[in-house]
Amino acid sequence: MNPVAARTSCDLVVVGAGPTGLFATYYAGFRGLSVLLLDAQHEPGGQVTALYPTKAIHDVAGFPAVPGADLVRGLVAQAEAHEPRMVFGAQVVDLVRDERSGTLTLSLADGSQVDARAAVLSTGVGGLRPRTLPVGHGWHGRGVAYTVGDPTDHTDEDVVVIGGGDSALDWALQLQPVARSVTVVHRRRAFRAHAASVARAEKCGVRLLTDCELLAIHGDDSVRSVVLRDRDGSEQELPATTVVGALGLVTAPSPFAAWGLELVDRKLVVDQSMATNIPGVFAAGDATSYPGKVPLMAVGFGEAATAVNNAAVHIDPELSLFPGHSTDEEQGTTMASDPTPLAVEA
Ligand SMILES: Cc1cc2nc3c(=O)[nH]c(=O)nc-3n(C[C@H](O)[C@H](O)[C@H](O)COP(=O)(O)OP(=O)(O)OC[C@H]3O[C@@H](n4cnc5c(N)ncnc54)[C@H](O)[C@@H]3O)c2cc1C
Repeated sequence: MNPVAARTSCDLVVVGAGPTGLFATYYAGFRGLSVLLLDAQHEPGGQVTALYPTKAIHDVAGFPAVPGADLVRGLVAQAEAHEPRMVFGAQVVDLVRDERSGTLTLSLADGSQVDARAAVLSTGVGGLRPRTLPVGHGWHGRGVAYTVGDPTDHTDEDVVVIGGGDSALDWALQLQPVARSVTVVHRRRAFRAHAASVARAEKCGVRLLTDCELLAIHGDDSVRSVVLRDRDGSEQELPATTVVGALGLVTAPSPFAAWGLELVDRKLVVDQSMATNIPGVFAAGDATSYPGKVPLMAVGFGEAATAVNNAAVHIDPELSLFPGHSTDEEQGTTMASDPTPLAVEA
């Protein structure tokens, strides 16, 4: 996780360490490529880490229910099998292809550059940051937070969650067993969150305040209370140790159009090999669009395998598109050009 040197090179650069990019990194290592994985965030996992690390995911093949953070841990361990370079806090701001050599040069926000023979863009919905609380300025790290990591960090606290979506209700439900009190404040009459979550929260003692907004945060070194205002204008002050902003995320799409990439609805247009319109630049996961596209992790994993194997052939046309079976890996046949055929009964 070292910073990128002022200029470095690799066979394949993967941009975005969400589920898709992590799996692409595994596949690139499996194919014997030198790979560099870059992400603007400071930790891997993309939307899973940012939005639902503790929620159980039920539609990843082979895992009936896997918490988001566990899935990301597994993807990182799998990606690390072939010792890729992974650099976080590395935002890619430009991509240029040299027409003569075909080399791709990616520029990072800190001014460093990466030369690669191919790239997989797995940038998902773009850069992610939480929508901040209008009155939260100056309180971050002193009681205002925008995610809930380990709920037991809030044992015996008075927690006020601001927001009406799934994250707000999920976090409230996780905090309720350990916190002294949990209050969800939503400025509209109806929650956007799943009705079952709202019903569970009501049942287990989470206080739900609708038509209500956060007016002010009071405290000294840390948050002590919040002032709330009802729709009719009446105000109340509640004790609060932690205020969790759950107002959703602001996404910052990469400037793909300026890089010369073809887009539809701000997504990258790809063909069946996950190639974009720039030779050597492939894409996978939520960043891509094609007729019938379903933006789910299961789909992104398949696209990552397709993108990386096609990138491998782009890098070395002598290589087979089929990577060989991973079950053969210990026998050193990861670059198989002639997979063992299955016998077919006549
Ligand atoms: C609340 C919620 C619940 C969900 N539940 C499910 C579910 O149950 N099952 C399911 O299959 N899917 C689910 N999804 C969707 C799933 O999370 C996405 O399909 C998945 O995260 C897409 O993975 P990705 O790697 O393509 O993109 P992302 O997860 O969006 O990751 C993209 C990464 O790229 C990085 N990045 C972007 N631009 C740059 C740049 N210029 N330079 C460097 N890094 C960059 C970002 O920082 C980010 O880390 C859910 C989504 C949400 C919001």
